[in-house]
Amino acid sequence: MNAVRTTCPYCGVGCGVLATPEGAVRGDPAHPANQGRLCSKGTALGETLDLPGRLLHPEVDGKRASWDAALDAVAEGFRRALAEHGPEGIALYVSGQLLTEDYYAANKLAKGFLGTGNIDSNSRLCMASAVAGHRRAFGEDLVPGVYEDLELADLVVLVGSNLAWCHPVLFQRLMAAKAARPAMRIVVVDPRRTATCEGADLHLPIAPGGDVALFNALLRHLHARGHRSDAPGLDAALAAAPGETGLDPVALATFLDWFAGTPRTVTLFSQGANQSSAGTDKANAIINCHLLSGRIGLPGAGPFSITGQPNAMGGREVGALANMLAGHLDWSRPEEVAALREFWSAPAIAPGPGLKAVDLFRVAAEGRIGALWVMATNPAVSMPDVDSVRAALRRLPCLVASDVTRESDTMDLARIRLPALGWGEKDGTVTNSERVISRQRGFRPWPGEARPDWWIVSQVARRLGWGDSFAWAGPADIFREHAAVTGLARPAERVFDISGLAGLSDAEYAALAPTRWPVARRGAQGGRLAPAARFVATPFRPPAHEISTDYPLRLLTGRLRDQWHTMTRTGPVPRLMAHWPEPTVTLHPEGAPPEGSLARIESRWGQAVLRVRHDPGQAPGTGFVPMHWTDRFAPPARVNAAVNPAVDPVSGQPELKHTPVRVTPV
Ligand code: SF4
Repeated sequence: MNAVRTTCPYCGVGCGVLATPEGAVRGDPAHPANQGRLCSKGTALGETLDLPGRLLHPEVDGKRASWDAALDAVAEGFRRALAEHGPEGIALYVSGQLLTEDYYAANKLAKGFLGTGNIDSNSRLCMASAVAGHRRAFGEDLVPGVYEDLELADLVVLVGSNLAWCHPVLFQRLMAAKAARPAMRIVVVDPRRTATCEGADLHLPIAPGGDVALFNALLRHLHARGHRSDAPGLDAALAAAPGETGLDPVALATFLDWFAGTPRTVTLFSQGANQSSAGTDKANAIINCHLLSGRIGLPGAGPFSITGQPNAMGGREVGALANMLAGHLDWSRPEEVAALREFWSAPAIAPGPGLKAVDLFRVAAEGRIGALWVMATNPAVSMPDVDSVRAALRRLPCLVASDVTRESDTMDLARIRLPALGWGEKDGTVTNSERVISRQRGFRPWPGEARPDWWIVSQVARRLGWGDSFAWAGPADIFREHAAVTGLARPAERVFDISGLAGLSDAEYAALAPTRWPVARRGAQGGRLAPAARFVATPFRPPAHEISTDYPLRLLTGRLRDQWHTMTRTGPVPRLMAHWPEPTVTLHPEGAPPEGSLARIESRWGQAVLRVRHDPGQAPGTGFVPMHWTDRFAPPARVNAAVNPAVDPVSGQPELKHTPVRVTPV
């Protein structure tokens, strides 16, 4: 078939896809991430090409508008917000669904020209704790390992990861490696007995929030077994309050001995660890154990954070989290800020980090944000304490939403709606969880008046008087600029450097093969990393809100195998919906309302009504609800109305894996 090489738009595995304009889709055998494999969502991509409810024309105040009128309205809204509130009264809330070039453009506009650090990504909900943990341990946001390490390891520890459902192709690779080498061991650390446990040798049903205690215990065990390290901070890490794991002592001892006795060990951690008020400490507690045992940057050994979204890593690279600058440059180094200001010819570089997502919407609710631009995400469903977020969105004088779909709860609330290109139409790059940059290529005509996100940003910038700095002819221009930023003011210890790609011609960019960073020289490509590191003390802290007699059950939220985010893409595909057709709360059968009945989940923040599902693999005292449903599909099943907005004090990531609730029959 006459197929185009592109990448899957769903998860952080970043699988290569061969796709035709007619919608035929198969895995790309030449892509290093998947080597021809696809999961159920990737296989169904062809069925999502003609999504119902596309936004095809700009709209202002509920009426169809020309692009000129809509862009003028955005610029006017921004000008007014600047005049009334200053730069901190403007914000952008962006998404790991954006391509790197789109992300770069938005970040440049915010941090270099509007003069605000208030650009945050929905990645804040996904892996901000891992980023913060990397920065504390390595001084930079680095994933040291590569996917192949999972295949080479003799022990793979999966922490807070339902890999079988959330990163299925990586799980397939892991299962194939275990089939070839049955002596390989897999341990799953998760309060739930998930599909991933089917392939595991040991399941540790840790209490929600207990991971720090587990890895603090492991650190002491490794030290007692004679492991030593010259890296700073070890004494404080060993002295940190250990906490109680609550695990069966025999199972715990087995895990400690397996880890201590297995040089080739990978610990993969994901949202179950990150989405916690101790998420950053969890990342560091894991990294500490790999540092002390020397298992980092070696084949089959290392801590490995895996991201949820297809381009969360790209967003991290361009600095589209509120606390990061472009190209891993750092606000704490004045020479790096100065270099970026000069490179961008920036009139108003942001003076420091901006508001992280939960704080951003809280400040908006207080009336201190005059204009907010939401790109390719749906905070009216996905944020915790979401009814408060909806109230904040309603209060905004100027809410701009740019997206593929008209059918989202955030779009409903927007004053200005801008139609963006979707998968199969847009063109750029993404970076997956193992630092591989891949091209995502368009292979379908642009529908209606939809345009690339980077173009929309550049047109707003032009209207605000900065057209010369955003005069890109296409994504290749932006990629070259982004690559050049990574070579600025570069201290020897900074690893993220793709300046070797800054000189790509348009043709070379068009043909770019998957490339792992760092790429400081043309033709050179990065591999495993063994960065200089330090230990971080991780004293155990319980979750922010404890259970009580009023709210005795711990609620966790997460993904299903065949759905994606708030279902705007996967919800309309019947065969994906067939896997799990309605919103449920999964409970241990003991003491639960009858299976199939409806139950109300209530917290002090809000409530949702869901169908009860029994599962003996769900730990007693906990409940699990898929995060995907919106009022569009099944009112009133928006679980985030009940989810608490507590955040990790370092990363700002919300505690989506621990909300005290009560369950009552309806
Ligand atoms: Fe897409 Fe992730 Fe499935 Fe690969 S594993 S096909 S990237 S959803």
